[in-house]
Amino acid sequence: MRELKPSLHKTMVDRLVAIVGRDAVISEESELVVYECDAYTMQKNLPTAVVLPATTEEVAQVVRVCNELELPIIPRGAGTSLSGSVLAVDGGVMIALTRMNRILNVDVRNRRALVEAGCVNAWITREASPHGLFFAPDPSSQPACTIGGNIATNSGGPHTLKNGVTTNHVLGYEMVMPDGSIKWLGTKPDGGEDVGGYDFRGAAIGSEGMFGVVTRALVRLVKTPASFKTFLAIFDSVDQASHTVSDIIAAGIVPAALEMMDQVITRALEEAYKVGFPLDAGAVLIVELDGLAGGVEQQAKQVEAICENNNAREVRLAKDDAERAALWKCRKRAFGAVGRLSPNYVTQDGVVPRSKVPAIMQFIREVSERHQLRIPNVFHAGDGNIHPLILFDERDPDQVKRALMAGDEILTKCVELGGSVTGEHGIGAEKIDFMEKQFAKDDLEAMKKLRTVFDPQQRCNPHKMFPGAKRCAEFAQKKQISA
Ligand SMILES: Cc1cc2nc3c(=O)[nH]c(=O)nc-3n(C[C@H](O)[C@H](O)[C@H](O)COP(=O)(O)OP(=O)(O)OC[C@H]3O[C@@H](n4cnc5c(N)ncnc54)[C@H](O)[C@@H]3O)c2cc1C
Repeated sequence: MRELKPSLHKTMVDRLVAIVGRDAVISEESELVVYECDAYTMQKNLPTAVVLPATTEEVAQVVRVCNELELPIIPRGAGTSLSGSVLAVDGGVMIALTRMNRILNVDVRNRRALVEAGCVNAWITREASPHGLFFAPDPSSQPACTIGGNIATNSGGPHTLKNGVTTNHVLGYEMVMPDGSIKWLGTKPDGGEDVGGYDFRGAAIGSEGMFGVVTRALVRLVKTPASFKTFLAIFDSVDQASHTVSDIIAAGIVPAALEMMDQVITRALEEAYKVGFPLDAGAVLIVELDGLAGGVEQQAKQVEAICENNNAREVRLAKDDAERAALWKCRKRAFGAVGRLSPNYVTQDGVVPRSKVPAIMQFIREVSERHQLRIPNVFHAGDGNIHPLILFDERDPDQVKRALMAGDEILTKCVELGGSVTGEHGIGAEKIDFMEKQFAKDDLEAMKKLRTVFDPQQRCNPHKMFPGAKRCAEFAQKKQISA
């Protein structure tokens, strides 16, 4: 925790309370523990205070106070980040948007919704679905994660394969800039288009809370497809399932979703939810096709044939909406089910070209054996976006060390195979060391320059993304690097 002089601490608390009220400021150490990390638990540190504003104006006032007191600000949504992007590395004031969670308007005619940044992702589709519309980005964390967090990480999800990621579905948004001014980037809620000049809307999507605090967003709604076919294809081995993924894409079919789960995951899910996954299957694929009934029917036959060519043991078709919903519910609870297997796990988020899915799966098996750690896989196979879950026990320093090494080796391999160290979870505090492996020096310099356009003082979510950033001391020790 960043130690402030008692007089400065009191000034900070008093001034924050004056803006948002006593109940919306957290500054006691025992309460701040809730905010010591996000869903990436390898690094922890307490923020100096957490503030929960209720309006954009309050956010702006909080930011101005932080500027005057020279304190870092850390925007936070639901804290589901898997890369430590919400970590208060050097303390600071965390601005949690969770009270600003309203859906302000669903404009069915123009297929848009205006929401506050703390609105939970799944609520938008819940509100839009009676009108035959939905919000397409569907991270597996969608019952909890917020639109502000989705914008800041450019979130994807199982249906990214066909529908694209958050940037494709956010028309514009309001942002409190690091100097406390309020700007609207992109299309405005009154319909005013902002299409001339540079695309600052696009530039700040995926900026991991380093460009300002998003307070409201105008999102695109898309029409619910006329028909779906959702299959569960069961294989004896991960290899067979991996080759099926490559073959489906090579056949020119773009499923709405193409997800893979290996045996450890399907067993954990079956134990938790009893959905009928075979316990001895090596891997399963969930393949979803959507569109007009005729086209879907024809593609379904092709997909079934491809699965059979790859020796699928069984291909089950969800026979109604309830079965389809049950499959997706299960898939989206996979990370949670893994909590039954191990006290801790770290989720990696590498990307490889789809044709390299079999190779990276083989490599992960080797890493698992070498480091004597279980590494189950549940991932967006159609995008080549892998999520190996490295299981460990944080009470055993040697396991922690091995888990960190295993993660490093897997991500390095992704880059070697022509992929990336992140598909959707971002760089955060976790993957700073990989930036130099993936980007040239000039690229990193250009990114830093763009950041200073938005935040010249670099006060907004500092110590993230760029090599050389400060680390939490305890983590630096675990990784044997300097803090
Ligand atoms: C079980 C599980 C499954 C997941 N599945 C997926 C998945 O399928 N796809 C995927 O992409 N991600 C996934 N994630 C990761 C995570 O849910 C996403 O990154 C999500 O977008 C984070 O939203 P959040 O509201 O929790 O943001 P937080 O975790 O609170 O913040 C994430 C980043 O956004 C910034 N931020 C948050 N709110 C704002 C704001 N209002 N203004 C500016 N910056 C802000 C933060 O500073 C931080 O840098 C998963 C996580 C979990 C735990």
